[in-house]
Amino acid sequence: MARIRFDALKVAQSRTQIDVTPPAKKISDYYGKSVFGKEAMRSYLASDTYKRLNLAIRRGERIDGQLADAVASALKSWAIEHGATHYTHWFQPLRGTTAEKHDAFFRLDGSGKAIEEFKGTMLVQQEPDASSFPSGGLRNTFEARGYTAWDPTSPAFLLKSGGGITLCIPSVFVAYTGQALDHKTPLLKSVEAINQAATAVCQFFDKNVKRVSATLGAEQEFFLVDKALFNARPDLVLCGRTLFGHSPARGQQLSDHYFGSIPPRVKAFMQAFEMQALQLGIPITTRHNEVAPGQYECAPIFEDMNVAVDHNLLLMDLMTRIANDHNFCVLFHEKPFAGVNGSGKHNNWALATDTGKNLLAPSTKPKDNLQFLTFFVNTIKAVHTHSDLVRASIASDGNDYRLGANEAPPAIISVFIGQQLSAVLDALENNADVSIDKGENMYMKLGLDKIPAILLDNTDRNRTSPFAFTGNKFEVRAVGSSANNATPMTVLNTIVADQLIAFKEEVDARVEKGEKREIAITNVLREYIKTSKDIRFEGNNYSAEWAEEAAKRGLSNIRNTPEALDQYLKPEAIALFERHNILTKPEIEARHEIEMEKYLMQLQIESRVLGDLAMNHAVPNAIKYQQRLIQTVKGMKELGLEEEAKMPLDTIRRISKHVGIITENVREMVKARKKANEFEVREAAEDYCKKVKPYFEIVRKSVDKLEILIDDELWSLPKYRELLFVR
Ligand code: ADP
Ligand code: MG
Repeated sequence: MARIRFDALKVAQSRTQIDVTPPAKKISDYYGKSVFGKEAMRSYLASDTYKRLNLAIRRGERIDGQLADAVASALKSWAIEHGATHYTHWFQPLRGTTAEKHDAFFRLDGSGKAIEEFKGTMLVQQEPDASSFPSGGLRNTFEARGYTAWDPTSPAFLLKSGGGITLCIPSVFVAYTGQALDHKTPLLKSVEAINQAATAVCQFFDKNVKRVSATLGAEQEFFLVDKALFNARPDLVLCGRTLFGHSPARGQQLSDHYFGSIPPRVKAFMQAFEMQALQLGIPITTRHNEVAPGQYECAPIFEDMNVAVDHNLLLMDLMTRIANDHNFCVLFHEKPFAGVNGSGKHNNWALATDTGKNLLAPSTKPKDNLQFLTFFVNTIKAVHTHSDLVRASIASDGNDYRLGANEAPPAIISVFIGQQLSAVLDALENNADVSIDKGENMYMKLGLDKIPAILLDNTDRNRTSPFAFTGNKFEVRAVGSSANNATPMTVLNTIVADQLIAFKEEVDARVEKGEKREIAITNVLREYIKTSKDIRFEGNNYSAEWAEEAAKRGLSNIRNTPEALDQYLKPEAIALFERHNILTKPEIEARHEIEMEKYLMQLQIESRVLGDLAMNHAVPNAIKYQQRLIQTVKGMKELGLEEEAKMPLDTIRRISKHVGIITENVREMVKARKKANEFEVREAAEDYCKKVKPYFEIVRKSVDKLEILIDDELWSLPKYRELLFVR
């Protein structure tokens, strides 16, 4: 009997739910209690210091040494009072997750007495020995210095783990030379770029707007697997996804899991991480089952983008750790199981003014709708111009399995806006050049009075679109579930900023020539509606017809990560990032190389694990069963049961056939891998993609056949039906 699998099943089946108790009765009593937010600042900082800090944060100004010292001292008191012994700069190196290096507040004074210390300089800057974080050649190891620097726009927080409490200070991570080595630095720059570009355009409509913030609400999908079963699957442990597994007799056909009642064990886990998330100021509100069995989603209320990105990363970290306490493993991989839905991270994106307005919310007032249309159409235009960069920003090995897999947005980037807004844009497009006589109601003539407020009711949805307008925001649905949202959001902010600047120039030029401003705006928008029309698609994105139609329209269909990442290196992409001071050419090249390497290493690991599992689990078990059958056939023949022996003989032959296919193809795959390893990163990635990866499917198919051919008791890997149906 396959011991590992059956032992794991026994453990998994005997689990009971772990009860959780909330820290207080009402959420409002504990929300944000572990954050050095406004409330803590007010009680720990002198009111003058508090004002100066807030002003500096709002204006993005440098924080001087004296102010830093005052904040550090307050942070120290607050943290120590709440039980913290250590502090860390919490940052996002390019490898994907977050990193921390803890230091104690404790120090010995001149006489050897222990004291607690935390100075402004320690708050503002740290120098972790970070020589083994990927830098893509930006930082030679002999010049390994990288600095983390405090990001005062994301509040510090206290993290409990392993019995201790640590003060975490969100930080950027840059090389000695000033080049960015993390995801946060370019994000912050893009947030500033869109602020400036959007504020300037807002001036057309409302002089009171002084600041525009990008907002993000990130829905997070994930799978849960019992810890014991997870540990019995080396592919899950090492690759984050299953490389084999015959689809279960019952999958998601019945759609009975979606929005169904959440199993109690899962619910206890969700409550546990939600409570911690809420204490950390993550405004998590939504939880439900997703389409696939074993798949769930959670979502917080949207926030200022930089904070929302940090919160999503922190949430993933919390979920991973708390799952362990509840004997689960969380899978953030985009496609952990073949044949059932993959997981995404829908990025809901909008723009908010400091006057409290969402620039992507249509209004009942026609005048406001010209402003809405301005931001709406410019976003569509930006995605049309830079769709390849949008595609690049969501590229990853895991997402390649998901995109275009018939249940996820395709690799073709298009924008869905819904019937009503399509009609509005069509009407505007087909209006002749607008010139309006005095006294006429311009908005009426432009059709702007027709944008109905019912749009907000949000019923017109297209869940197959990678980039969908959902009433008052765009939802980027193609982001992978394991991604750091900073990357797609940096790109989106940058391309929209670039577009808004071009728009303003065009309008200004027309106004200079004597056109009335509203008319100029409308005429430029009309032009954009025409030139960006091809990116709009309202139909079924999963259909084969769309791929054909998209090709006719000249839209890209970039199917793999290496090709997608190459889009960053196009001269116009580099110029774009440099123009807005987001990333320099060397920084882009470094990122390209790091991502490419990540991709190829992932495929290398998968290929090795696949070979190992196929040859050392599947094949030997199949042969064991085949031996038994051979004995059976011999016995039958001895008894003269020639006719009856035909069936087991047939199974013997089929096992041989699949064992043959597996052995042969694993051998060829290893050869292809060895060859790929001889190349430099880009060529190696290409080889892994085109010459190694195709074997995965071939080998898998035969292994999955063996799974259903041989005795269940001999199969050593937990099966899909066992992994997916957690109770
Ligand atoms: P659905 O699953 O139907 O898309 P959810 O309620 O799960 O909807 O998620 C919607 C997300 O969009 C939430 O995180 C919500 O806070 C966010 N959202 C709403 N308004 C905005 C906005 N103006 N900017 C950014 N995100 C927003
Ligand atoms: Mg959604």
